[in-house]
Amino acid sequence: MTATPTSRTCDVAIVGAGPAGLALAVALAQAGIASTVLERQGLHALAHPAEDGRDIALTHRSRVILETLGLWQRLPAQEIAPLRQAQVRDGVSPLVLPFDASSQGHDALGWLVPNHRLRAAAFAATDELPMVQLHTDAPVVAFERSAEAATLTLENGHRISAALVVAADSRFSALRRMAGIGAQLLDFGRSAIVARLAHEHPHEGIAHECFRYGNTLAMLPMAGRQVSAVVTLPSDEAPAWMGLSDADFAARVQQQFGDALGLLRPAGPRHVYPLVATYAHRFAGPRLALLGDTAVGMHPVTAHGYNFGLYGVQVLAQELQCARQQRRPDAVALAAYERRHRRATLPTWLGTNAIVRLFTDDRAPARVLRRTVLQVARQLPPLRSAIARQLTGSGPAAYTSSHSLRT
Ligand SMILES: Cc1cc2nc3c(=O)[nH]c(=O)nc-3n(C[C@H](O)[C@H](O)[C@H](O)COP(=O)(O)OP(=O)(O)OC[C@H]3O[C@@H](n4cnc5c(N)ncnc54)[C@H](O)[C@@H]3O)c2cc1C
Repeated sequence: MTATPTSRTCDVAIVGAGPAGLALAVALAQAGIASTVLERQGLHALAHPAEDGRDIALTHRSRVILETLGLWQRLPAQEIAPLRQAQVRDGVSPLVLPFDASSQGHDALGWLVPNHRLRAAAFAATDELPMVQLHTDAPVVAFERSAEAATLTLENGHRISAALVVAADSRFSALRRMAGIGAQLLDFGRSAIVARLAHEHPHEGIAHECFRYGNTLAMLPMAGRQVSAVVTLPSDEAPAWMGLSDADFAARVQQQFGDALGLLRPAGPRHVYPLVATYAHRFAGPRLALLGDTAVGMHPVTAHGYNFGLYGVQVLAQELQCARQQRRPDAVALAAYERRHRRATLPTWLGTNAIVRLFTDDRAPARVLRRTVLQVARQLPPLRSAIARQLTGSGPAAYTSSHSLRT
């Protein structure tokens, strides 16, 4: 950790010390590339991130990336929860569409980990790396480029020039806008309310996704006898749900979910997230790459946001390392990153948005179509396998590469 520079140069400057930006700093350090991370939040908020209610489902590929970066090992083992099965239901139909880890030859479809633990692990790792300089309380307010360098200006007027800037400053990225890169923004007009609930009977590692009429309810199996309840509903209904007492919230969820887990009791604070999906028109430009939610911001229903962030970290670090070893310009690496990351993310981004649109449409024709989609998927094991492969992150060929994260 160093004081904010007045004017200096660095190799790679990363804007945003979220879980994507920090993971990239670690990956670059492993590739022998030094980076400077600029974050608008203070040091304490980064070192001791507050519980934010987000429980992140990680794929097999993400686990391998986190292990390679040494971040998985820093997560509290007792808070990592295996996701063994997912069950999808629609409306009032008793029909269940199951996705099973064993059908994929795995013990788990993935793992659930609290977001603040991921953030804390990434901070602790970067804090120990001399090749990473982290500047906190350092909001970036301007960005300019020349043939020689990209230059960032901080709110306090200090300037930092870099060979390459990586924007990882959230789905509403100011840097993306300053760089003249547009994005598709899809405001669903809906919000997700998340809270931990304790329950009586074991959850057996089963996640439940209930596309109800009126709202969606997901129950994600966390460590111990707890679930992360995610209620997705029209945003104008969120204040009423947030205004409920903890006991009334648990009772409302119980009324919708039933008694499969026994009595539900409050086990943590509630948080609300307005849902907006984003997809940048470009992931790279001269001396610039977009990473994490700045490149692809997902609706959480298919649990891909941070997974895509990690895939981006892996691909960007690989391509930069490879280009530099071969003494080729970073532009070659950026073009490859753009190509590979788009191929890996666009089908899922489009597919997720289509699922959300269909399964939040309660009109009569849509109800028929929803039921039909579930019935067809139930009767087509290859389709279910393809979705399960996507869930585990062992999906399309675009995810694989000839290089590894480390050489
Ligand atoms: C309810 C919910 C559930 C989710 N569940 C899952 C899941 O199951 N699986 C999954 O993979 N993903 C999930 N996600 C998505 C996941 O949380 C995000 O994809 C991930 O946190 C994004 O990380 P990031 O580093 O790209 O961005 P962020 O976490 O948004 O970090 C951006 C950072 O940039 C900083 N910053 C912003 N502007 C500036 C500036 N001008 N100057 C300096 N710093 C700046 C911010 O302070 C912040 O620290 C979920 C999201 C939600 C809301």
